[in-house]
Amino acid sequence: MSDLSAAFEATYGAAPAGVWAAPGRVNLIGEHTDYNGGFVLPMAIPYAARAAVRPRTDGVLRFFSEQGDGEVTSVAVDSLAPGSVPGWAQYPAGVVWALREAGHDVGGADVYLSSDVPGGAGLSSSAALECVIAIAYRDLHGLGLDATELALLAQRAENAFVGVPCGMMDQMASTSCEEGAALFLDTRDMSSRQVPLELVGQGLRLLVIDTRVKHDLGDGAYAELRAGCERAAALLGLAALRELSLDGLPGALDQLPAELRPLVHHVVTENRRVERAVEHLTAGELAELGPILTAGHASLRDDYRVSCPETDLAVSAAVEAGALGARMTGGGFGGSVLALVRAEALEQVAAAVTTAFTAAGYAEPRTFAATPAAGAHRIS
Ligand code: ADP
Ligand code: MG
Repeated sequence: MSDLSAAFEATYGAAPAGVWAAPGRVNLIGEHTDYNGGFVLPMAIPYAARAAVRPRTDGVLRFFSEQGDGEVTSVAVDSLAPGSVPGWAQYPAGVVWALREAGHDVGGADVYLSSDVPGGAGLSSSAALECVIAIAYRDLHGLGLDATELALLAQRAENAFVGVPCGMMDQMASTSCEEGAALFLDTRDMSSRQVPLELVGQGLRLLVIDTRVKHDLGDGAYAELRAGCERAAALLGLAALRELSLDGLPGALDQLPAELRPLVHHVVTENRRVERAVEHLTAGELAELGPILTAGHASLRDDYRVSCPETDLAVSAAVEAGALGARMTGGGFGGSVLALVRAEALEQVAAAVTTAFTAAGYAEPRTFAATPAAGAHRIS
């Protein structure tokens, strides 16, 4: 990645006021629970979006991204409205819009972006892009917003400005995670707690496998699944599926039409898996996370039906090669797989997945070991 300050100056002709970073994330466990008021357990990865920013006083907003379209996108803050900004720049522009919608008196800026979060891999490159703008604006304008408030503004940008109906996990992970820890987040009230994740001390690694596939049916399916969960909650007289306990599950399933039962079964058992994972991590029993990951994958594959042949193969190949557990992470239909492995087995598991992909005729996956990194912060 380039020297961002120098690149900013070369593009805009003056030095930036500061440089900020906001990471991508992987979710350890708790998938498709964040729009059901449930639990999630993400950690930040050591890949981030970085932004060099300088405020402007003339109400003009200019964005350039090293991973964008090679153009500077220029827009007047007064004219920001959903649908008004084309292409990738709608993510950062949406955050400025959301801040102004929320009553913050913020204006234009020159922004130079660069991100090493792989895009479209289920690692939240979009949230990283939003959150780095949110935190830069907070600091430059002295907005006094905390990490949760920043995340909610970034989520509003993605929901209402970009038009993606995502939950708030990605943005919360990007603003709130801490190095060496996972974030146990209760999406019902946004309360959260850092849970220590001392992988290296226990001789463990988290292998992230980016399958490099993204099946198109994902977008429509997400909205349908979400609507199915809301319908099930309404039929059960609940505000959200989160209110249903594991004990209450069999009785509840009896009251639901057949097509909604697997959705409810996944959400309720997944919430319990998050709680069990947190119990084990808190007790320092990190290896116990393995079987929970694999059970979570089976639930996403068989009940929620959001896995695909590539993620299923990555999981089975990793587990056969000695991973303690593995699962798809992110919304599904491609994206990335997470495997918990002993340090000495890291290379062997990564190689086994690559070999299995080649044998199946799939593109070579991208693999990396992820340690829990810091959330959004100012660099200079
Ligand atoms: P994910 O968040 O899982 O990576 P999304 O589809 O939600 O996938 O977001 C990917 C989109 O975010 C890209 O198509 C692009 O529009 C935008 N994006 C992410 N990072 C960058 C970047 N560094 N520069 C420009 N656009 C980016
Ligand atoms: Mg995204």
